[in-house]
Amino acid sequence: MTRVIVTGGAGFIGSHLCRTLLEKGYEVICIDNLYTGSKENIADLLQNSNFEFIKHDITDGIIINAEQIYNLACPASPVHYQNQPIQTIKTSTLGVWNMLNLAKKTKARFLQASTSEVYGDPSVHPQKESYWGNVNPIGIRACYDEGKRLAECLCMEFDRQHEAEIRVIRIFNTYGPNMALNDGRVISNFLVQAIKGDPITIYGDGSQTRSFQYVSDLVNGMIKMMEQDDFVGPVNLGNPGEFTIKELAEKVIKVCNSKSEIIYKPLPNDDPRKRKPDISLAKEKLDWEPIIPLDEGIIKTRDYFIERLKREK
Ligand code: UDP
Repeated sequence: MTRVIVTGGAGFIGSHLCRTLLEKGYEVICIDNLYTGSKENIADLLQNSNFEFIKHDITDGIIINAEQIYNLACPASPVHYQNQPIQTIKTSTLGVWNMLNLAKKTKARFLQASTSEVYGDPSVHPQKESYWGNVNPIGIRACYDEGKRLAECLCMEFDRQHEAEIRVIRIFNTYGPNMALNDGRVISNFLVQAIKGDPITIYGDGSQTRSFQYVSDLVNGMIKMMEQDDFVGPVNLGNPGEFTIKELAEKVIKVCNSKSEIIYKPLPNDDPRKRKPDISLAKEKLDWEPIIPLDEGIIKTRDYFIERLKREK
């Protein structure tokens, strides 16, 4: 049985990854400090004898033997990382360094969950992996963007200097069940607001764009990247369908049959104007592309939040 560590395993994406790996017959060790992750996301896994949860912060070292390490630990919503910017930097630098050292010692293959944020507010559209990005190094997003950029740099040096087995993926906006109610990102905010009948909060004029991938598509891509033997990456994993935030708000109001009005709030500093992945490299190297369209994924996510809000009452 292959033993796998998933850091950030109690988070939104991590919990889906743990569940899929267990279904595929892996033994899974989930490490999470529960800053943004939650035990509720993995409640159904705790009884599984192939699953172990360890409450631990990766900025402290840990020694566990495994064949594969998926390193997802890091707050990823702007609201959360901007609340704890220094801890976010430590997680993406010291934390990644700790986990890379563990990979080196145990000869585990190491997959780093990087991000489309390495492209910053891109001046090239759509974004290819060869684009170096446009990041404000001293802005309010830098703790995350520069943290993740340095994490990629560390990974590449462990590949070059230590011949560690590295895989790097760049995750574009992802959504689905298990997002926290207070996650703060756009799809969860809009769905929760629409279901409750609260105003939908568009930041700026809503003309900025994002490309949204459903979480199961991402998890399939992550596992494909980990399982192949010769490509280090980085590789974009995202859905190239591009929507304005205004279009998204209208879509959400429609699928929720909601009476919510749209209100406009100031655009946060350094908010990227547009984002869309070029996924030709993922298609070529991994034979991967997303299959869940936004309309279908939004309905699944809506149903999750309807249930979740009932439980809150
Ligand atoms: N956004 C919005 N209303 C919200 C939350 C976010 O208009 O309630 C906007 C945000 O300013 C950004 C886009 O939606 O332009 C995506 O934001 P999110 O935080 O989901 O992710 P990002 O891609 O910015 O990291």
